[in-house]
Amino acid sequence: MRVETRPILQGWYRYFEGDPEITRAVDSYTGVFDENTCHKIYKRYLGPGARDEAVRKVSDQVQQAITELATMLGSVQTATTEYGENLGDVSTQIAEARSIEDLGAVVSGIIQETKVMVEKNQQLESKLETSSEQVSELKKNLDNVKREALTDGLTGVANRKAFDKNILDMIEEATANATPMVLIMIDIDFFKKFNDTYGHQVGDQVLKLVARTLVDNVKGRDLVSRYGGEEFSVLLPETPLSAGMKVGEMLRKSVESKEVVNKTSNENLGRITLSMGVAEYLPGESISRVIERADEALYKSKKTGRNRVTPADHPENIMATLQAAPAVALKDSTIKE
Ligand code: GH3
Ligand code: MG
Ligand code: MG
Repeated sequence: MRVETRPILQGWYRYFEGDPEITRAVDSYTGVFDENTCHKIYKRYLGPGARDEAVRKVSDQVQQAITELATMLGSVQTATTEYGENLGDVSTQIAEARSIEDLGAVVSGIIQETKVMVEKNQQLESKLETSSEQVSELKKNLDNVKREALTDGLTGVANRKAFDKNILDMIEEATANATPMVLIMIDIDFFKKFNDTYGHQVGDQVLKLVARTLVDNVKGRDLVSRYGGEEFSVLLPETPLSAGMKVGEMLRKSVESKEVVNKTSNENLGRITLSMGVAEYLPGESISRVIERADEALYKSKKTGRNRVTPADHPENIMATLQAAPAVALKDSTIKE
């Protein structure tokens, strides 16, 4: 039998290195520590699909900050209890004092105890200050991790996860305020051919160029996302279909006007074009339905020659068709008579 030793070694390496999560997992495990357990720990904390290194780091820092704060509060609590007990003894000592000297000794005792307490309080204050700085630092780290989790690594625009979240928020907003919103689905034309001709790395440069051009040409709360491979999407809140079509057309022209130049060889690689489908959200429809309609319109753009923007079916268009239909029927019946 072939034993996969890499996960086992990696797990133990991290344990001896003092990785807090692995240490906790190993130290708190009470069962038999066999190969299976090693694999389980590896899969949960280190393997593919395990939480990001960055998230693990922040979570370790939070754990450490909480432990430090709890230890410090514990020691202050002990000191406060001792101080209270010592003050309690004072009333007995005063009652038992036989001379002014005895009283003097009691008072200097209180002064001494109070000094210690004041010092402890000062220490607590400065430690709390440090903790509050640590917490702000952690919050910053966490914000970075969150931002990274919602950003596409190659192009720097919002990723699919961010798209999913934003379309949901925008639909809720559009429904609550009865405002229109538009989704544009975008696909690069003949990108496979481009990749095959110039290589994947140049293809990646094109993806970056397209993403940048899209971002540079939208404004405000409009959101550009990388929907998948060479597909992008733009969400336009508070926008009706007609304005969405104009934005799409402007984006299409803008990308078409750029000449793609190979950064290393300076070779001119020609132009890139985009096909788009534009759908206005219809009140009550599901997220998947509006995406489907935008996709269908995009498919029409591809079928009718690419490098174009097509509107998705919209009630106004449907109404126009319906209104046209009876007139024709009427004419037909008139002719029959
Ligand atoms: P069409 O005009 O019909 O859209 O043709 P197409 O060639 O663009 O469409 P197709 O879906 O056949 O090919 C998409 C290509 O996009 C395939 C893949 O090589 C490329 N692609 C997807 N993701 C990436 C990426 O991250 N980097 C690069 N360089 N290429 C990618
Ligand atoms: Mg595609
Ligand atoms: Mg394509």
